[in-house]
Amino acid sequence: MLTDRSKQVVRKEMTWAEKAYLPAIFSGMMITFSHIFKKKATIKYPEQKRPIAPIYRGQHVLKRDEAGAERCTACGLCAVACPAEAITMVAEERKKGEENLYREEKYASMYEINMLRCIFCGLCEEACPKEAIFLTDRLVPSTFERADFIYGKSKLVETIDNPIDVSVRQTQKVLEFKEDKKHKHNRTFLDKINTIIQRH
Ligand code: SF4
Ligand code: SF4
Repeated sequence: MLTDRSKQVVRKEMTWAEKAYLPAIFSGMMITFSHIFKKKATIKYPEQKRPIAPIYRGQHVLKRDEAGAERCTACGLCAVACPAEAITMVAEERKKGEENLYREEKYASMYEINMLRCIFCGLCEEACPKEAIFLTDRLVPSTFERADFIYGKSKLVETIDNPIDVSVRQTQKVLEFKEDKKHKHNRTFLDKINTIIQRH
């Protein structure tokens, strides 16, 4: 015996009412009726939407710079930071004449996020040194095919004529966190070199 909470079970004969399950059905119906006039916890989504926090983390966006070039340089830091291993990418070297398409000399020719694996933790956004990936307040729409949840560049990169505003989520606290040099990934290359020099 692992605890002193053992209880002797008595196998007593059931009454007629108990055999007919009437008291159990009646008490069950009472619970159901008691909920009829209570405020409903469910809403009619997508017609109705719940208010969300300003820093809500939803569907990602890959941003372009002011000139319309993709900011992502395929450094892979977001993929390394991702605890769900949801990010995959292929890096490519920018060719002459593609400066208007890609801001850096290296870019992601393929960039995918598996939305079924993603836990919307936001670590990819924090890890990105190029301000290229952000989570937004958009919900990932439901679908019947698993393959539809693999979001490639066509779904992730914002279009030039319809840029996604990510400023709402960048509250003062978030910006302060991103600039705090205590966090390893917020340090610039020079900060890192100086830290190493100071150590030796
Ligand atoms: S939000 Fe988190 S889980 Fe989702 S892709 Fe980014 S790092 Fe990975
Ligand atoms: S999104 Fe940012 S962290 Fe990820 S590969 Fe592109 S530049 Fe690097």
